[in-house]
Amino acid sequence: MSKFVYLFNEGNAGMKELLGGKGANLAEMTRAGLPVPEGFTISTEACNQYYVDGGALSDDMRAEISAALSDLERRTGKVFGDTANPLLVSVRSGSVFSMPGMMDTVLNLGLNDQTVEGLATLTGNARFAYDCYRRFLQMFGDVVLGIDHYFFEQILEDVKHARGVEHDPDLTADDWKTIITSYKALVQKETRAPFPQDPQEQLSLAIQAVFKSWNNQRAIVYRRINKIPDHLGTAVNVQSMVFGNLGEDSGTGVAFTRNPSTGQRELYGEFLINAQGEDVVAGIRTPQPISALEEVLPNVYQEFSLICERLEQHYQDMQDIEFTVERGKLYILQTRNGKRTAHAAVKVAVDLCNEGILSKEESLQRVDPESLDQLLHRRIDDNAKLNVIATGLPASPGAASGLIVFDADLADKWASDGKKVILVRPETTPDDIHGIVAAQGILTSRGGMTSHAAVVARGMGKSCICGCEDLRIDLEAKTVTVREVTLREGDLLSIDGGTGRVILGDVPLIDPELSQEFKLLLQWADEVRQIAVRANADNPEDTAKAREFGAEGVGLCRTEHMFMAADRVPIVQEMILAETFEERMDALDKLLPMQQSDFEGILRSMEGLPVTIRLLDPPLHEFLPNLEDLVVELTKLRLQEGVERRVTREKENLIRKVRALHEFNPMLGHRGCRLGITYPEIYAMQVRAIFLATAKLQAEGVNAIPEVMIPLVGHVNELKEMRQLVLQTAERVMEETGHKFEFLVGTMIEVPRAALTADEIAEEADFFSFGTNDLTQTTFGYSRDDAEGKFLHHYLQSKLLPDNPFQVLDQNGVGKLVELATEKGRAVKPGLKLGICGEHGGEKHSIDFCFRTGLDYVSCSPFRVPIARLAAAQATL
Ligand code: ADP
Ligand code: MG
Ligand code: MG
Repeated sequence: MSKFVYLFNEGNAGMKELLGGKGANLAEMTRAGLPVPEGFTISTEACNQYYVDGGALSDDMRAEISAALSDLERRTGKVFGDTANPLLVSVRSGSVFSMPGMMDTVLNLGLNDQTVEGLATLTGNARFAYDCYRRFLQMFGDVVLGIDHYFFEQILEDVKHARGVEHDPDLTADDWKTIITSYKALVQKETRAPFPQDPQEQLSLAIQAVFKSWNNQRAIVYRRINKIPDHLGTAVNVQSMVFGNLGEDSGTGVAFTRNPSTGQRELYGEFLINAQGEDVVAGIRTPQPISALEEVLPNVYQEFSLICERLEQHYQDMQDIEFTVERGKLYILQTRNGKRTAHAAVKVAVDLCNEGILSKEESLQRVDPESLDQLLHRRIDDNAKLNVIATGLPASPGAASGLIVFDADLADKWASDGKKVILVRPETTPDDIHGIVAAQGILTSRGGMTSHAAVVARGMGKSCICGCEDLRIDLEAKTVTVREVTLREGDLLSIDGGTGRVILGDVPLIDPELSQEFKLLLQWADEVRQIAVRANADNPEDTAKAREFGAEGVGLCRTEHMFMAADRVPIVQEMILAETFEERMDALDKLLPMQQSDFEGILRSMEGLPVTIRLLDPPLHEFLPNLEDLVVELTKLRLQEGVERRVTREKENLIRKVRALHEFNPMLGHRGCRLGITYPEIYAMQVRAIFLATAKLQAEGVNAIPEVMIPLVGHVNELKEMRQLVLQTAERVMEETGHKFEFLVGTMIEVPRAALTADEIAEEADFFSFGTNDLTQTTFGYSRDDAEGKFLHHYLQSKLLPDNPFQVLDQNGVGKLVELATEKGRAVKPGLKLGICGEHGGEKHSIDFCFRTGLDYVSCSPFRVPIARLAAAQATL
């Protein structure tokens, strides 16, 4: 017989799969002797069984639950449903991966019209007992009976208003009784049945509601975004209640063992005196910082600090801890590895290593390379004049600008129309998740650093400001007012989540600087990784940036980008449109010194490191004016009076040539080495420019290391011919300049035939660089430009393809060609140098693949170099 229920003292942290993260950690803490209220966990297997059984608790399961409940009664000395000494429990969801706020929890379960009296007598505090009961009615009504919490709040607001009271704690026992009567009437009205008074029935319904919450809409969306499998199911924790709402010596809070925004080692969090669980996260009252607890309840603070330290040591990671104080006694209700910003992740990983808690290798694995992206992006220029209209809590760093929207649906809609939006809300709830995903940043007027908005935004690396109390948000009128300024939906607003500044209009952004810890982590990465990281760069500035970020060479320098500069396009056009060889040579002679100085700049800034320069690759017509524009111009000329015939004829000529260059499938057309073969003088000019630059730098004592790369080779003879051209040009430059220099000639492997015949091609190549963008296009037979807009999106949405193959290398297909080419190439030439220069060179899964396949380097955009360095290190671990 399978076991569905585990007492807290039967589990441990290793049982997350079965007990969920919350349950496993409650068990672990119980075993470690921490003050955890007693309880038991109903496993994720039970959840799955519940669904198999068509949404019912089996008799076996019920029996186990009732045995565990009896055990709980014995341990607590209380009795479930007893009117004199009632046991109250919380029923808490808990999945394997934490999904904060996504699923449901019910507190104070076991209360009814009789037990509430017992609780009042027992505690001598009627106000408290009725407060618990109304909370229970509301949570149970919302979570289990599906009555919108708005209706409950409405009743509460009305009573508060009638009594002229602002805060909940100012309500009396009698007020709560009035509210309870209305709540029960609401339940009766909405469900056409009285509120269930039988605690056993309450428990059974609540457990099933938690199981069902696994499949509520927001949980499904959250799982999709975070790639959490649907089949895991949730566990349910039934735990005896402790009460933070028993007066001024009671309270509840949430704290991180380190600052989740900066990683700073300090207790960081919030608490509320005389409050229960959800009050802190729900953002209903703005809580006090945890440091204030030291003044209010110093002994509790001391004990809590020690427990935090112990938990961090135990889990070897920053913890996010929920606690409650009942009449001066501290209880721990949850611990988990805290979600954090990338900045904090890096600092915590490095600090934990320096503190001797983690090894370097472990630290390296603690940071998701992809998250580093956040640190490599621009932030607000410190010198900028900003129109700061308000300041809130800096809940999640990063700057963001966008149009104000007040609801998640509109945020979602506008974002899908390509607009940037800032979601402005009094507070967010899990139902706003799609709006948060869509927004550039989130701004709330209520709630603290651990409110829903803050936690979710940090997890997503989105900028967020919370508890900005100066904002008066009117959701009906769709306005937000700060003192005399009133903003409307669609107005431009900026937020700086690192400082909490709310700024009117747009903001100027500047480049990031890397923190000491960040540099150190990357240094450790360099120590362990066994695959080099180069950058794709086409100009000296990018090359310098790449080097600063740690690139070990240029893996792809696209020469056509140099042809695109405004002052060059006319000359390039001259070259393309030339009628005769002489005319073409004239244009090329003008381009030569320009290219030479480009290469000088790039080779100089990569001094001592290899620079792979790809000869001209795109179809020539990309450099020519648009045909439709030309036709319009011609028509205008014809309609104009007094235009010389010669002028219109020139235009006609141009149109004829542009037409002649038109191709049906330019991606498969006259491009790459096909250009070099048909117009060798173009490649000869480029190669000459490369070598003249090399020789000149050598004369200056600068060690330039060029690697000439021939694109789009499909047959060895293409490479053979182009290689000869390179070798002859080099020889000539060496003769002319009297300088001898080293260089390599290689090719891109970017069409399937090149991969299939890599052994032949290797004979003529010093290196291969896998051009996985084109290789993906040609292997799938997708034109990238057409695919993404037309059908790929659908393929990804419907999970027909697991990933976008232009982002994540398709290892089973395209990857097979890479492996094959590697094998065949190295069989002929064991020392053949291999690299990758597609977008994939900066993506962690693809980097892992490249390492396993035995490539020498990956190459990616300069801003991704640090990401690639860390990913390359992780690949070896
Ligand atoms: P979530 O996953 O949304 O955080 P939890 O199950 O952790 O939901 O519970 C919500 C809130 O209720 C938390 O603040 C938690 O500390 C509090 N809580 C849960 N169980 C108890 C309990 N037995 N006694 C007192 N407070 C509780
Ligand atoms: Mg919850
Ligand atoms: Mg919790």
